[in-house]
Amino acid sequence: MTSAQDCVFCRILSGDLPCIPLFEDDLTKAFMDINPVARGHALVIPREHAATILTVSVPALQAVAVTVQRIARAIDRALQPAGLSIVQANGPGAAQTVGHFHMHVLPRTASDDLRLNWHLTPGSLRDIEDAARRIRAAVTPP
Ligand code: 5GP
Ligand code: ZN
Repeated sequence: MTSAQDCVFCRILSGDLPCIPLFEDDLTKAFMDINPVARGHALVIPREHAATILTVSVPALQAVAVTVQRIARAIDRALQPAGLSIVQANGPGAAQTVGHFHMHVLPRTASDDLRLNWHLTPGSLRDIEDAARRIRAAVTPP
């Protein structure tokens, strides 16, 4: 698994790589996925570098869960999806592609037929930014 030095999410946390942010606190950060499977597809990560749910610390895991709820509520308010799935992959056998623990917050429609192993397809930055603006406006403060 990836070390913190060459981890894309650690580079986003340090500001070395850009992201479209949604929310951050002492232990977590939420931002838009650049290959969205749905409008509003967001990621929540701990600041701590840990590869999977097997190694992430309990405080980081708890903090991620709270931020996931905050982002899910904001997406629900802002975009009113038919449903929301929370997806979290661990290891190559589970199709994890970034080795820094993260949870996907996925707006759903009844007919999207979303599979657990979806293909990564870059989204339109304009559409992602537009969804992010709406979600940010609906995020409640801690
Ligand atoms: P996984 O397949 O590991 O569950 O999910 C990793 C997610 O990270 C993918 O949905 C992928 O689109 C997203 N991702 C990979 N690189 C970047 C990046 O540089 N920026 C952002 N915002 N998302 C990324
Ligand atoms: Zn990392």
